Amino acid sequence: MWRGIIEEYMEYMPISDKSRIITMLEGNTPLIYAANISKDLGVELYFKYDGLNPTGSFKDRGMTLAISKAVEEGAKAVVCASTGNTSASCAAYAAKAGFKAIVLIPDGKIAKGKLAQAVAYGANIFAVDGNFDAALRLVKEMASRFGLTIVNSLNPYRLIGQKSGAFEICDVIGCPEYVFIPVGNAGNISAYWMGFKEYYENGRIDTLPHMMGFQAAGAAPIVEGRVIENPETIATAIRIGNPVSWDKAVNAARESGGEIDKVTDEEILSAYRYMASSEGIFAEPASSASLAGLIKKAENGVIPKNSKVVCILTGNGLKDPDTVMGLQIDIKHTSDNGEGIIEYLEGIA
Ligand SMILES: *Cc1c(COP(=O)(O)O)cnc(C)c1O
Repeated sequence: MWRGIIEEYMEYMPISDKSRIITMLEGNTPLIYAANISKDLGVELYFKYDGLNPTGSFKDRGMTLAISKAVEEGAKAVVCASTGNTSASCAAYAAKAGFKAIVLIPDGKIAKGKLAQAVAYGANIFAVDGNFDAALRLVKEMASRFGLTIVNSLNPYRLIGQKSGAFEICDVIGCPEYVFIPVGNAGNISAYWMGFKEYYENGRIDTLPHMMGFQAAGAAPIVEGRVIENPETIATAIRIGNPVSWDKAVNAARESGGEIDKVTDEEILSAYRYMASSEGIFAEPASSASLAGLIKKAENGVIPKNSKVVCILTGNGLKDPDTVMGLQIDIKHTSDNGEGIIEYLEGIA
């Protein structure tokens, strides 16, 4: 039976007392071959669907370790700023560990499903007048003043846990040639790169992938080389103007011979629908930035034919019902004796 990422990858994790691991058996998420999109784009594409983690995003990989270490270190309470998924994950793992979870969210800018999770798991929720970057500033201040443990990705255990995603990919298909991944605070791209390098150094793989990170065009501080004061994008999970792991991400792209680029909200939404309607995978808008990035690079001829590519799908589409319901939707009507559906079926017969 799968035991969660800490026990499965114990030799790579800085924890030794198994009895105090807080886990919900996160990780071991499917790596799904995307037959239809592969054919369209001329590559061998797999989706690493991390939206199937216990709280529906990759944040659980980091949270299991951050919360387990907080237990080990006798923390008083845990706190985070969040565009939604960190708060959901923090609230769930804190509930299991018996910690008070304090979460700060940008007022009105978080997807409904994510807020619902934080409420359900019993977090103490504060809506901040300001965006994510302002919420994180406040978290740092409150943590140092009141002795709280921060579980944002500036907590080093978050990235160490998240590198398990890279291990799992290599365990299934070996090392891919390209990894496409959305970039918000830039922790996950840094974590993946750490994971691939550790596997390489341990002789588990003998090549390394190009790390291809994608920001949303309205929230692309790394691409533009400046802090964005008022980031805007439909992909709220990557609506970040001043990424915590900026330097680490730039380094991952440079060392791996990859790059960090941006995609527009239109490209993100188009990839979002394409993925769901051609592969049956419903990922959240931020996650779709990875596929949008692949489409952009494939069309520009940057990706050699038949390359082995993985797109990281960071979160589950069900978290953000408003985005999909805001699209042009086609629900037909029928009477209960079939008037409506019969005409339709005759039309396609
Ligand atoms: C947190 C998050 C991201 C961004 O990850 P970073 O590590 O902040 O770059 C992307 N997509 C989803 C769904 C997320 O929850």
